[in-house]
Amino acid sequence: ASEEGFDTDDVEAAIEEAGHGPLPVLAVVGRPNVGKSTLVNRIIGRREAVVEDRPGVTRDRVTYEAEWAGRRFKVVDTGGWEQDVLGIDASVATQAEYAIEAADACLFVVDATVGATDTDEAVVKLLRRAGKPVVLAANKVDGQSGEADAATLWSLGLGEPFPVSSLHGRGTGDLLDEVLRKLPEAPEQTFGKAVGGPRRIALIGRPNVGKSSLLNKVANEDRVVVNELAGTTRDPVDELIELGGVTWKFVDTAGIRKKVHLQAGADYYASLRTAAAVEKAEVAVILIDTTDTISVQDQRIITMAVESGRAIVIAYNKWDELDEERRYYLEREIETEMQQVSWAPRVNVSAKTGRHMEKLVPAIETALAGWETRVPTGRLNAFLGELVAAHPHPIRGGKQPRILFGTQAGTKPPRFVLFASGFLEAGYRRFIERRLREEFGFEGTPIHISVRVRE
Ligand code: GDP
Ligand code: GDP
Repeated sequence: ASEEGFDTDDVEAAIEEAGHGPLPVLAVVGRPNVGKSTLVNRIIGRREAVVEDRPGVTRDRVTYEAEWAGRRFKVVDTGGWEQDVLGIDASVATQAEYAIEAADACLFVVDATVGATDTDEAVVKLLRRAGKPVVLAANKVDGQSGEADAATLWSLGLGEPFPVSSLHGRGTGDLLDEVLRKLPEAPEQTFGKAVGGPRRIALIGRPNVGKSSLLNKVANEDRVVVNELAGTTRDPVDELIELGGVTWKFVDTAGIRKKVHLQAGADYYASLRTAAAVEKAEVAVILIDTTDTISVQDQRIITMAVESGRAIVIAYNKWDELDEERRYYLEREIETEMQQVSWAPRVNVSAKTGRHMEKLVPAIETALAGWETRVPTGRLNAFLGELVAAHPHPIRGGKQPRILFGTQAGTKPPRFVLFASGFLEAGYRRFIERRLREEFGFEGTPIHISVRVRE
């Protein structure tokens, strides 16, 4: 059986692959220098999570997509932080906590050549309290002789230690098989159990944009419904707040309320925290400080949220401070710097005065609606047919690639698969995305379009 030259099974497989929902998250934790980043490199199969020999290298990127045995998942690397910033214990605990909180399973890395240290024991405590599935990697077992060292790590009480050499790849296949056994198919911890529960919002933005001010403004004492305790006994991590008659869950608020004052490494903590919050949320409210120039750091945060496929609202904060001149330049900056989220609803707010706070919820609802939009296949193909007839792909090498049919493979965010008779150029794909948005809305949501070409 075939559809316009495509094998039916191939079509189904393509739709299934493209339509995956949010991916489960694996956090790789452990004290410095045990080989976390090296292992992450192995897992993602690329040299992207560059391992640097010099300490104190800060990285912005902390989450990566990986695939093993046909299953896709996300990996959060906590290896990019500096060990001299605080006492080692304190910094290990902080970085591990954020990552564990946002994870569906944890890969705990121990240096088998050193054995279990007090710091390792401290991480074990965190893992126990969090109650998430754990796989124990006994790293730096480069040869047979190291196996005995690995076996001593049974003492950590986390079950079987998997001896691996992240450097050479020894044992990593078995380790990943175990990871897949422990990792839920979908992100149950953060998504599955919340079906029908309050919608989850992450407030993100670079330091001093006004996240905690905004949180305090929306969480007027009487409107905070409940404070949920995290696995640990420290602070509330997620807060339920009633807005516009609806209860919302603001995730990772401890990271907002409790300011970690660090010099070196602060950027990395901020990135890790943002990544963790975004993973746990359905919608990200990205704050921009309008009194300041829109920066590369703002853009990185936006990119993180877009790449994670979350619904997005942009809140331009500190509107009370704007004079006419700054406003003029701000609008220019928005045009040039915010193009990647030109589809996101925008609110101009002041966390200080409360200006336009009432517009926040409608914007969030709009973004979530766009995020969940499903276009019926018939409507999509009618639209594609007209589009392709009116604007065919340019002829290349005497051939004209044609979109034969398409389908929406998934939502949250909307994912489309287009089946074509030839390669579609990037410019044409962007054109399709633009027209899809014009036709069907998708306000406040990234959309994914993948193209399958007939062999
Ligand atoms: P992280 O701080 O936990 O992310 O550790 P890194 O991945 O940066 O590794 C710390 C050091 O241990 C680097 O010099 C790595 O090359 C080295 N290393 C990592 N994995 C192995 C391994 O399996 N065997 C050996 N011999 N060295 C390793
Ligand atoms: P965070 O680091 O993103 O949590 O930012 P904060 O909420 O701590 O705010 C940083 C600074 O900006 C503080 O001095 C706030 O008082 C100030 N701020 C926050 N929102 C506003 C606002 O809407 N207008 C003005 N004028 N100042 C604000």
